[in-house]
Amino acid sequence: MKYVGAHVSTVGGVRNAPLNAREIGANAFAMFTKNQRRWVAKPYSDAEIAAFRENLEEVGIEPGQVLAHDGYLINLGHPEEAALERSRAAFVDELERCGQLGVELLNFHPGSHLRKISEEACLERIAESVNRALEATRGVTAVIENTAGQGSNLGYRFEHLAAIIDRVEDKSRIGVCLDTCHTFTAGYDLRDRAACDATFAEFERVVGFAYLRGMHLNDSKPDLGSRVDRHHSLGKGKLGLEVFRYVMRDARFDGIPLVLETIDPEIWAEEIALLRRMESGAESGRIE
Ligand SMILES: [Zn+2]
Ligand SMILES: [Zn+2]
Repeated sequence: MKYVGAHVSTVGGVRNAPLNAREIGANAFAMFTKNQRRWVAKPYSDAEIAAFRENLEEVGIEPGQVLAHDGYLINLGHPEEAALERSRAAFVDELERCGQLGVELLNFHPGSHLRKISEEACLERIAESVNRALEATRGVTAVIENTAGQGSNLGYRFEHLAAIIDRVEDKSRIGVCLDTCHTFTAGYDLRDRAACDATFAEFERVVGFAYLRGMHLNDSKPDLGSRVDRHHSLGKGKLGLEVFRYVMRDARFDGIPLVLETIDPEIWAEEIALLRRMESGAESGRIE
């Protein structure tokens, strides 16, 4: 079974996220657990937690199909000690927030070395950060997102993801989220069937589908290997539609949240409907 949704708004409180997901016909979604551009946020009130859980149940979305996304300020591989500690504390706070809501997956960007330490040393720090965070919390799985490799961000090679996973002690609480735009702009082609076959075989070889806990479905404005992170609506960018058809018809992507982060929320419902038609084989190949 395929679970499809989008990264929905939490304006007015996290309780609104499940309702926003229902609005667009989703049976999975992503959301921020707090303002993604701030370090601290007030703890959730008991009422907010209860309302989120109630709404989630009312819309019929399983807690395992909610892929929370961590804030933009967190860098778990930060080269400087004070900033690293701040990031680690914020990450633990995010895992705890997920736990309170009953959300099982927290998606994070691995981190960046800021050209002050080596890639290897940075990956080591990221893994250590994850180990500490998992040790300090319970239940929630940390899901590493692959990146476009913009600036000094790591996670643009499948080997980076594998290097982090290798060093994480509790393998049951570490996973991976592949973003189609990031994968493509990092240099892995996904534009046709053969390219998808090759790229996902490479992913299986280096990381393994056993760790795949979510996908971000985005078309890409920039070209293959550009190392630039700019999403586009499905079928409107350099990727085209084939990769989405591929994902919707391949059982390796069953049972995990498949989440749009495309640029026009106005057409999310249409994009989800298109993905559903792809899944059933009834799609004409364009958004009407
Ligand atoms: Zn993404
Ligand atoms: Zn992105």
